[in-house]
Amino acid sequence: MTELLSNHIGGQWQAGQGAGTALHDPVLGTELVRVDATGLDLPAAFAFARQQGGSALRALTYRQRAALLSAAAKVLQANRDAYYDISTANSGTVKNDTAVDVDGGIYTLGTYAKMGEGLGDVHFLHDGEPARLAKDILFQSQHVLTPTRGVALFINAFNFPSWGLWEKAAPALLSGVPVIVKPATTTAWLTQRMVKDVVDAGIFPAGSISVICGSSAGLMDQLEPFDVVSFTGSAETAAIIRSHPSVTRKSVRVNIEADSVNSALLLPSEAKGSEAFDLLIKEVAREMTVKSGQKCTAIRRVFVPESLYDPVAQGLSARLTKTTVGNPRHESVRMGAVVNRAQFNAVREGLAYLKSQANVLHDGDMHALVDADAALACCLGPTLLGTGDAVGSDAADRVHDTEVFGPVATLVPYRDNDLEHALRLIRRGQGSLVASVFGSDHAALAKAALQLTDSHGRVHVISPDVAALHTGHGNVMPQSLHGGPGRAGGGEELGGLRALQFYHRRAAIQASTAVLTQFK
Ligand code: NAP
Repeated sequence: MTELLSNHIGGQWQAGQGAGTALHDPVLGTELVRVDATGLDLPAAFAFARQQGGSALRALTYRQRAALLSAAAKVLQANRDAYYDISTANSGTVKNDTAVDVDGGIYTLGTYAKMGEGLGDVHFLHDGEPARLAKDILFQSQHVLTPTRGVALFINAFNFPSWGLWEKAAPALLSGVPVIVKPATTTAWLTQRMVKDVVDAGIFPAGSISVICGSSAGLMDQLEPFDVVSFTGSAETAAIIRSHPSVTRKSVRVNIEADSVNSALLLPSEAKGSEAFDLLIKEVAREMTVKSGQKCTAIRRVFVPESLYDPVAQGLSARLTKTTVGNPRHESVRMGAVVNRAQFNAVREGLAYLKSQANVLHDGDMHALVDADAALACCLGPTLLGTGDAVGSDAADRVHDTEVFGPVATLVPYRDNDLEHALRLIRRGQGSLVASVFGSDHAALAKAALQLTDSHGRVHVISPDVAALHTGHGNVMPQSLHGGPGRAGGGEELGGLRALQFYHRRAAIQASTAVLTQFK
């Protein structure tokens, strides 16, 4: 039997009482560790976090808590090699893909540590300036933000066991709110190990960070009115979370990051072989293959003028052909596995569904696996589909409705010189996390970007002058908002210090100016 990972609740490490669920290597098929959460005293765990963790964290100032984040980032940095090994084994990722998760998580934590330092030695935050309520300036209203007196429950997706933890935990802990993280079972090992390293280093007060690995049963039932829940995962599970009585009856604040059919758009004015054209090819190929396409932000739909459909298809296919797929331990391999057999099958099913309304422009099955048994390894080559022409783009609905969570994208041509057509097609995605726009005319880029903001949480504009600088369509930077309207879940995360608002309560204090100046 493999090791059964412990849960950390009530300030202690506790094993579940069942046999556990096995976590596997998606390339070799071997069992790695087991997780189990049966028999845990969840009411006591949540109460401990709220009472012990919450009061100890709130007793500190923002600057002091920022220093704890900084210390935690150092501990994680020191143990980075172990996280890379776990990620290769459990997520089947090559080093560059592991970096997106592991280093991305540590960077985000470090960034919040720096931002938090600037908030100073205070216990609450001002929200705006005082507003006069009466004729005389003596009576005014001042809004303040104070940390919520509850726990933050994180229910996370399998694709970012590190980043998914720290991008949520950093703003929560900086706000003074204890966290309980429930990682997706399939890849819970990395989350558990990172929490273990930070807890064992004794950085945060007891009860600040808890981790529960295994079934989600009963977690939502523990929530009380001042708790918050932040969920990342599929739209189906999101619907369950939203309709849970804790949310509908107790007003537990909820943030949802769900699935998304993100877009890349090449502006009408671009010609074949222009710098912007080449930048689009490069970025789309990268987005399709990084983490085997298992990024919520990955480009799924690629909008190009109809007359550039063939050249873009050829350019992308030429680039994708170079992607070596297989065992991430082999140095020639650029793309590893998807996370497990269920995801492998889901990608295959999703592809079949899309193919009924699209042609195959680059077939992932052409990629022979390197150092991996095709019958065992959950590895797939990248597949590019296409809707053929602008009429086909209008007729297809599946490409706008379906997120295939793997190395798959669809080329969707729009009518030449008709940006409005492209924008209408993009909006059929019903709200996405991110769209990228490629072009060389700054005025046209600005106009298109603004028109995409109503349906996207982030618009990433790539012009030749920022070719070497831009941070990547799919990379979520802590300084920028992450989340999107509509089917993307309607959530908001990160965005610098904006992220702290989710973990604070806003109240207006109406009082004499003499009282309000006491808050300075
Ligand atoms: P999922 O199946 O919905 O699972 C997400 C989490 O919810 C897991 O921790 C899961 O636990 C838990 N869960 C399942 N049923 C639950 C229930 N009834 N009550 C409470 N929790 C429950 O999603 P996934 O397959 O892990 O993730 C893939 C999806 O996430 C994709 O659609 C992707 O687009 C999306 N995603 C979005 C973002 C974003 O930031 N917007 C980021 C990453 C991924 P178990 O693992 O134990 O079942």
